[in-house]
Amino acid sequence: MGEFKVFDYMQKHQYEQVVYFYDQSTGLKGITVIHNTTLGPALGGTRIWNYATEEDALIDCLRLARGMTYKSAAAGLNLGGGKTVLIGDAATLKSEAYFRALGRYVQSLSGRYITAEDVNTTTKDMSYVAMETDYVAGLEGKSGNPSPITALGVFHGVKAGLQKKFGESDISAHTFAVQGAGQTGYYLIGYLLEAGAKKIYFTEINQKHIQRMAQEHPEVVFVKPEDIYAADADVFCPCALGGTLNGDTIPLIKAPVIAGSANNVLLDEEIHGNMIRERGIIYCPDFVINAGGLINVYHELHGYVKERVMADTKKIYDRVLEVLDIAEKEGITSQQAAKVFAKKRIEAVRNIRSNYIPR
Ligand code: NAD
Repeated sequence: MGEFKVFDYMQKHQYEQVVYFYDQSTGLKGITVIHNTTLGPALGGTRIWNYATEEDALIDCLRLARGMTYKSAAAGLNLGGGKTVLIGDAATLKSEAYFRALGRYVQSLSGRYITAEDVNTTTKDMSYVAMETDYVAGLEGKSGNPSPITALGVFHGVKAGLQKKFGESDISAHTFAVQGAGQTGYYLIGYLLEAGAKKIYFTEINQKHIQRMAQEHPEVVFVKPEDIYAADADVFCPCALGGTLNGDTIPLIKAPVIAGSANNVLLDEEIHGNMIRERGIIYCPDFVINAGGLINVYHELHGYVKERVMADTKKIYDRVLEVLDIAEKEGITSQQAAKVFAKKRIEAVRNIRSNYIPR
């Protein structure tokens, strides 16, 4: 691979800012990327990862920050996209001082960037960050665990997928195959059962989660991980890891609708998005359908009112349908359509700001 040209990349994808920081006393070493702040402050979690190279860390941060721009825009939130990656081994680096040092760098961006927890960071870590900055979300005792809200958003997205495919969204008339019954899959199954789902298959690799399901909902049928794709279901719900929709698995899928919580579930957005489209399967784009957790955290910034969070999360139904309609009309994949939808909103808001209004 040739040299990575950061300014070329920033120009190509319209990034605003890349910040490197290093704190000698704690070993804090990281990068914050602000992709776009047209709609509001850039929000995105802080990830700690032992990257093989500094370039890997930069590329990951750039990619994740841009993803946050589209996710927030598509969710109708007044937030931009950003991300922080910290380089090193989370197990040895973490301390109060380490996170307070991070908080000071976040504060130095004067609210252009708001952080939160992500891979290898917790609400406890963020409580240290909050000692040094006002610009941190996802704190303990505030909006709480986002997973039930993420799952609720997915539930609404599932209904939108059914509506598009079958012209009705009655959960009780349909069958489901859920891949992964962890934080989000478990709650999704709960909502589906509550709505009277005809039959649910699920798969898991964690014995504890298999047992929990057997105890709490014995009517939910366990299938082996490799068998979940071909389960006889109307909706396939990927709620495990990313990349599970690929050249090997897509041909196996029986369900005419795919709708789940997993991020980056298409191994390759273009290749596998098209593969799904060519099979006539309705795919509800990951970053549109799984925005419930982000909606939840956003409300923490504006005085948390549960009813408002629920109402905003319910709107995922309309957004998924709108995106699916764009995909159909334009003859593109729904993942591409979701980006068109997000970019349109950013452009529209940018345009109305051309006149001068004193505040
Ligand atoms: P989780 O780790 O709690 O649950 C995932 C579950 O999938 C685990 O129980 C794991 O054992 C299982 N699993 C992993 N590989 C599997 C396989 N091959 N077959 C069967 N089961 C498998 O994670 P989560 O919080 O539920 O997140 C799931 C996905 O949703 C992730 O991609 C995450 O990025 C995304 N997501 C989560 C949230 C949230 O609020 N938690 C928000 C947005 C997106």
